[in-house]
Amino acid sequence: MIQLINLQKRYGTGEIAVDVLKGIDLEISEGEYLSIMGPSGSGKSTLMNIIGCLDRQTEGRYLFQGQDVSEADEEKRARLRNQNIGFVFQHFQLLSRMNARQNVELPLIYAGMSPARRQKLAKEALERVGLSDRMEHLPSELSGGQQQRVAIARALVNRPPLLLADEPTGALDTASGEVVLKLFEELHQDGCTVVMITHDPEVSAHAERQVLIRDGALVEDRRFAEEGGVG
Ligand code: ADP
Ligand code: MG
Repeated sequence: MIQLINLQKRYGTGEIAVDVLKGIDLEISEGEYLSIMGPSGSGKSTLMNIIGCLDRQTEGRYLFQGQDVSEADEEKRARLRNQNIGFVFQHFQLLSRMNARQNVELPLIYAGMSPARRQKLAKEALERVGLSDRMEHLPSELSGGQQQRVAIARALVNRPPLLLADEPTGALDTASGEVVLKLFEELHQDGCTVVMITHDPEVSAHAERQVLIRDGALVEDRRFAEEGGVG
């Protein structure tokens, strides 16, 4: 699904240039549940933003489903992103003036769907994350864990094949974080490719494959057997 070849990212130019990604080679297959773990500042979010077509690398190649997206124009990249990738962020990024259902409908508005169909799909997505009784609540009326579940419903409402999550449990208490991780596991079981970024080894251990990043380089790639779990 994803192929990164000698991927490099430099911020700034000349004397203030910083090399943040220093030649990443990584392949992610359809259906994998992968975590990218590393300390703060190691380049995880930079990497996720490139995978999500929110940013571009400065060197190297990025192929998504065999297509070179580094060469594509912004319109094509936006289309690829909207059709294939759901995003979940540490601080939820919900629109505060819209209720849960309206937030979840947003990607469907961009897709040009009719209001009736939008509402139906948004409600189904919210039911799926266990929030059928919170659909008309504003984000400010929900707990952090509930807000993150709304964000997950929004990421999934148009059934993208890839979910990218950047520190999805970072702002949550342990119990709410576990609910989020359980949802990711279910999505993975349903065939969705899940790429989760975290600095927390305990969170990372929920994934089937863990890639460690340090100082902009991949230093380890570990796979766990599906049945044996961690260890
Ligand atoms: P992580 O998510 O692992 O904490 P980031 O990818 O956010 O790491 O950042 C990696 C490094 O790149 C950090 O040193 C950060 O300061 C720097 N960085 C991130 N974004 C920018 C930017 N837009 N301009 C300049 N430097 C940046
Ligand atoms: Mg980060």
